[in-house]
Amino acid sequence: KTKTPKHDTVTMFRIWRRQISSAIFLEHAKGKLATANLAAIAAARKAGGEAVGVLAVDNATSPVIEEAKKLSGLTKVILATHPNYEKLLPEVTAPLLVALQKQHGFSHWWAAHTSIGKNILPRMAGLLAQDEEGIAPVADVTEVVDGSTFVRPIYAGNAITTVKTSGSINIVTVRPTAFKLDEMATAQVPIEEYKAEPAEMLTKWESEELSKSDRPDLGAATIVVSGGRALKSADNFKLIYELADTLGAAVGASRAAVDAGYVANDLQVGQTGKVVAPKLYIAIGISGAIQHVAGMKDSKTIIAINKDPDAPIFQFADYGLVGDLFTILPELTKKLKQQ
Ligand code: FAD
Repeated sequence: KTKTPKHDTVTMFRIWRRQISSAIFLEHAKGKLATANLAAIAAARKAGGEAVGVLAVDNATSPVIEEAKKLSGLTKVILATHPNYEKLLPEVTAPLLVALQKQHGFSHWWAAHTSIGKNILPRMAGLLAQDEEGIAPVADVTEVVDGSTFVRPIYAGNAITTVKTSGSINIVTVRPTAFKLDEMATAQVPIEEYKAEPAEMLTKWESEELSKSDRPDLGAATIVVSGGRALKSADNFKLIYELADTLGAAVGASRAAVDAGYVANDLQVGQTGKVVAPKLYIAIGISGAIQHVAGMKDSKTIIAINKDPDAPIFQFADYGLVGDLFTILPELTKKLKQQ
């Protein structure tokens, strides 16, 4: 089927003026706005033009509304309230964004490249693409060159590509660790209520199981201590936990350690795990496979402990310690505790 662009008047006007107007999808969970939203706002600011927030919540007393009012860099927040939005399921959230797009004719949509953002924005792009050519989401953006030029990693971070969009609507998810997160200001951002008519719930939220931890969150920690296959067992991973707790660090792991059942898979760092960029990353008994490195190479300082002096991880490390982790770790933790 040949698709013909069906722009509304507002979109046509903006295309003609080449004016940037951004909508930022504000994600939240458990009554709190996600910090990653700040990266999406920072990216939108880089593109220029005005930016509004879009917030979908289950009820009008949700505490995230008050948080959203304090987001600096937004001219207003469009608020849609309905019980169906409680879990931000993509089947009901994406049609809401499409309806807002049709009403406002934004040139850009931004969201953080998180499991929620990755779930919703591509679906929104798919729905818009049914009517219009040239709509393609740009995912995991690490740099905004201008309103239609974005930098993103490909091949597990082994190549960096600069892409230029040609469609009238740019739909972009941004890597949270790649953008400076501005502080929330105290300014009051006005709220504009949108009378939502949510799509039918095609899916149902059954339950979620979250692992509880007193340690810092892996994605936001300033120090991460990660262990690999060399730990040999879940029991031995306590060496990693002890070092991490001494440093106030989050714990990460290689996929080999996760697959072997030493730790839960939410600790996996890498191409198919979490992408982290802490101030300090300590890789212990991890060889440095490209898929692991893709998730940690942007860390400010990298320390590697490995008994093989030729392990690839040393090519990425700022400091390397060649030796047996079972000897080094107890000694290191003890010395750090004495400080
Ligand atoms: P190994 O490669 O086995 O390395 C163990 C290291 O420990 C070695 O360097 C060894 O010298 C050292 N060592 C052994 N004993 C000791 C000791 N006593 N003291 C000190 N050092 C010791 N991997 C990820 O981590 N994250 C991902 O997201 C990921 N995604 C993937 C996606 C795809 C599509 C594929 C194909 C693979 C992916 N992998 C990922 C797997 C990746 O290729 C590697 O297999 C994995 O990272 C290896 O984990 P490791 O370094 O712990 O184990």
